[in-house]
Amino acid sequence: MKRILSIAILITCCVLSGHTQTPLRVIMIGAHPDDCDQDGGGTAILLSSMGYAVKFVAVTNGDAGHQSEGGGMLAKRRFAEAQEAGKRFGVTYDVLDNHDGELVPSLDVRLQVIRKIREWNADVVIAPRPNDYHPDHRYTGVLVQDAAYMVAVPNVAAETPPLRKNPVFLYFQDFFQRPNTFRPDVAIDITSVFDKKVHALDAHASQFYEWLPWIGGYSDQVPANVADRKKWLATNRAIRLTPEVKKSLEKWYGSEKAAAIKHAEAFEVCEYGTQPSDDDLRRIFPMLKK
Ligand SMILES: [Zn+2]
Repeated sequence: MKRILSIAILITCCVLSGHTQTPLRVIMIGAHPDDCDQDGGGTAILLSSMGYAVKFVAVTNGDAGHQSEGGGMLAKRRFAEAQEAGKRFGVTYDVLDNHDGELVPSLDVRLQVIRKIREWNADVVIAPRPNDYHPDHRYTGVLVQDAAYMVAVPNVAAETPPLRKNPVFLYFQDFFQRPNTFRPDVAIDITSVFDKKVHALDAHASQFYEWLPWIGGYSDQVPANVADRKKWLATNRAIRLTPEVKKSLEKWYGSEKAAAIKHAEAFEVCEYGTQPSDDDLRRIFPMLKK
């Protein structure tokens, strides 16, 4: 009993002195089973290793993302790849059964998204901005924006209890210029887990070694040998550090530390949902704590 009491006191002290962080619940929502992986995978690895509950959701089943496969068989293959990637990232991976390449921001899909956010009891939701070349990405952005207030409205999707606290909504980084550029409000150093991220991306063989090289016209660059493939993937999938992201890294990590950062993932705060202060962002991303 005494021991239990002293452990309880120790835990309380740690919490009060800020040494431990209450693990939060994060849901990343992408259009396809590989989108969250590329845009937020390193951050997901870091958060899940801190005890956070992290879920990836693909709003479509990916059944159009291949040059010689398609339909149900491709959807099955991509589901299996997503599950393997989820294991490697340390997240659970849900795939919604909507057709790839045909996503529209319908009421039906909006309700699916609302339910996913509620069921995960999310503190933080991360999704694409609604300005992207790919309609599925664009409409995933719209769908999550459309859900951002409705997740708290009890009479919408009434069978799934509403969230009592509106989550913080963030956008993944993109490089589109119009109508406005991405603003890196927060940037996370993922250098220490970059190799792990690449290992997890490697689970999506149908995408990174087959489909994307084919549609991008660089199939001839994909190495045949497994070890060389991963090395190639690390170069192929590294996210460029823009001057704006570097500035954000300096803000959060200090200029000395920031100068050594090789890989980062940045996020913009969405103006819907709970608006976080800098201290709130440090609580959400404890790796930023000074
Ligand atoms: Zn995609």
